[in-house]
Formats: sequence, C-alpha cells, structure tokens
Amino acid sequence: MENFAEHLLKKVSNMTRTSDRKEAARQLAIYLGVEDLIIFIVDPAVSVVLPAPGFPQTLPGGRAWRSFLSDCAKTGQFSAQLITPGRSEPGSVYGVAAEDGSILVLIGGSPIGELVTVVKQLLPLLAAAYHGELAAQNEASQARLAKTAAEQSRQLINSFDSARRELQKTLQMRDQFLSIAAHELKTPLTSILGFTQVLLRRAEKEKLLGERDLHLVKIVINQANRMQKLMEDFLNQDRMQAGLFVLDMADMDLVELVRETIDELQPSLDKHVVQHYTGGFESLPVRGDRLRLHLVVQNLLHNAVKYSLEGGEVIVRTWQENGRACLSVSDLGIGIPPEELSRLFERFYRASNAQKHHLGGIGIGLFLTREIINGHGGTIEMESIESQGSTFRVCLPLGTAGI
Ligand code: ADP
Repeated sequence: MENFAEHLLKKVSNMTRTSDRKEAARQLAIYLGVEDLIIFIVDPAVSVVLPAPGFPQTLPGGRAWRSFLSDCAKTGQFSAQLITPGRSEPGSVYGVAAEDGSILVLIGGSPIGELVTVVKQLLPLLAAAYHGELAAQNEASQARLAKTAAEQSRQLINSFDSARRELQKTLQMRDQFLSIAAHELKTPLTSILGFTQVLLRRAEKEKLLGERDLHLVKIVINQANRMQKLMEDFLNQDRMQAGLFVLDMADMDLVELVRETIDELQPSLDKHVVQHYTGGFESLPVRGDRLRLHLVVQNLLHNAVKYSLEGGEVIVRTWQENGRACLSVSDLGIGIPPEELSRLFERFYRASNAQKHHLGGIGIGLFLTREIINGHGGTIEMESIESQGSTFRVCLPLGTAGI
C-alpha cells in the first residue's frame, strides 16, 4: 500500500504540470480504476464551478453537467449518466466534492474508494495550483490586451497625424485660393463701385432716374460695398498671416472715428437705427492706426446689423475708464450659443446659428478685429445671450497727445 500511495502522489503531482495535463489525468484515472477524469475548480470572481485549466472547457449537454456538479457540491458525492467529452452515448460519471468546493469527476468504471478519498484530500492543493495558472493566464492576456491597446493607439496617432497634415494642406490651399480670388476680384469690383457711385451722383444731380431706380442703384452700391469689405478683410488677414501687417500709428480721436463710421453706414440702413452715446466724453484721444481702427468699428457695426435680422436698435457707446478709451456695440440680434463663445475670434469660425440663418460671411472679421486691437495693446471682450443679443467691448490705451 505504501508503494501504492507513493505512486498515487506522483500521479497527482503530475497533474500540476501545465503540459500534457490530459495524459497525466488519464494516467491518474487508470490508477484509480476508471477511464478518465476531470477536475473542476471554483472561479472566485463569479463563485461558479468551472473545468480547471488544461481540461475540456465545454462539456456536451452543458445543462446536465451543471445540475450534476451542483448535486455533487450539495451532497459531497454524486453519480449520474452523462455524455462525456469525445463520446456520443451517456456513460457513468462519479463526482466527489472537496472542502474548498473543487470537484473531481471520474468517468467510466468503478473507482477504488480508498484512493479516491486520498485524492479528494489533495484536491484543494491541486485547485490552488490551477488558480495560480489562471491568474498567470489572466496577467498574460492583460499584457496582450495592453500591447494591442498600445498598438491601436499608435495607429490612431499615426492616422491623426496624417489627417492633420491633410487638413493643413487643405487649409493652405483654401487660403491660397481665397487670396488669389480676392486679389483678382478687387480691381473689377473697385471699378464697378466707382462707376456706380458716379452714375448715382449724376442721376441725382441731373434727375435722370426716378425714386425706384435710384433705390436700385443704391442697392447695387451697398452690395458692392459689402463685397469690397469682405475682400479687404480677407486681404488684411492674408497680409497678417504673411507677417506683412504693420500698424501706421498716429494720434487720433476715437469718438470722431466712431461718428464717421456710423455716418457712413447710416444711409444703407432701413430696418436699423444706430444710437451713439458719448456719456459726456466728446473726444477720446488714442494713438492708433486710423485705417485699421476704422475697420474694427466697421466690423463691429456691420455684424451688429447683420446679426439682428429683425432690425431694431444698435447702441454704440464710447467712454473712458482707468486710462483707457472704450467703445461698445450692442445689438438685439440672434446672439451666440454659450458653448461657442470661446471660439468666435478664431479665423474662419462662424457660430452655428449664423450658418442656420444663412447669413453670409466667412468668419474673418472678428479674428482681424482682435488682431488689430491686440496690436494696439488693447482688449476686446464680448457678452452674448442667444436669441437676445450681443455686446462687443473694445478698450485701447488712452493717448495723451493733443488732438
Ligand atoms: P462673419 O460675420 O463674416 O461670419 P466675423 O468674424 O465677423 O465673420 O464673425 C464671426 C462669427 O461671429 C459670425 O459668423 C457670427 O457667428 C458671430 N458673430 C459676430 N458678431 C455677432 C453678433 N453681433 N451677433 C451674433 N453673432 C455674431
């Protein structure tokens, strides 16, 4: 018997080898007087009895096996007729549950009782070894997963990089195209505008046209003006991108500039009224590039008009505070969705509601406005409530020179 037990221990310890487990199991089974055996262990994560690693992981007629295993666990030992791996007919199986919940299932033949008792006592040790194997497998599969994830993110970064390069190329092409188009269109547009203005003056002076036709000519001039402004905006930003944007600074009066810009705009308005409040400051000296600051005021006023579809009041204020000359333009228009406020000064950015209402524009005006203001050491801020209106506020360092 001693020899027998030694043999048995050797056979059981063979079961811990990861290779040839099937063969080791068959040898042990024969030793125990049966055809084959399977060991089941408790998966601690889900508290379910599963075949140990190295044994068949799916069993024919899984349901019958599950109820057999549960009967084994409940009663400590149980026998049944089940279809076993590799067989098509049911055969006799005998299960013994160990203290830790693991189960030894002997297939075919009648087991030698005494030996089974010893194996049952050794079962928890075998189960512990199998749990270790499972953990190692999990770690290996986690390492594999991590490797795959790293590979996938590397691929993602690569495709992101090439998408960014493509985008940059497309943006460059767009800029190039717009720049050529603006340059080419500038000359014919200037003559359309110039000649139409001459025509209008002559028609008014010599009473050549009736009211309706005069109105039509004015519309042509307005539209041509808008187009010219758009192109100037674009060419200006093009120069800015190319580093050719130099400010031509001189002493000037902000209040006067604002008045002049409003006066230019007023005749083209029919649904809007622009009110200018000076708060008692009839002049505000600043040092700046008059042409560029004119563009700033013009941009803000044009936007206030353009983005208040129903018409209404546009309020312009000029004042001074803390050594700064300030200007604000407020409208009661479509406003800006809150989540888009931070992007408004980006080049070519247009808010979604502007696009929804099909209001023309290319999203350069505000970008240019901010660049010009920054170039003057000033600040620009905005407040807006969607569907209620917007206020843009610009402040420049107050100049000291006499005007
Ligand atoms: P554009 O008017 O040509 O689109 P801008 O750079 O002047 O370009 O303005 C950028 C975007 O800011 C506009 O497309 C619009 O969505 C939004 N915006 C500017 N001014 C106003 C305003 N007064 N009210 C509502 N939205 C405005």
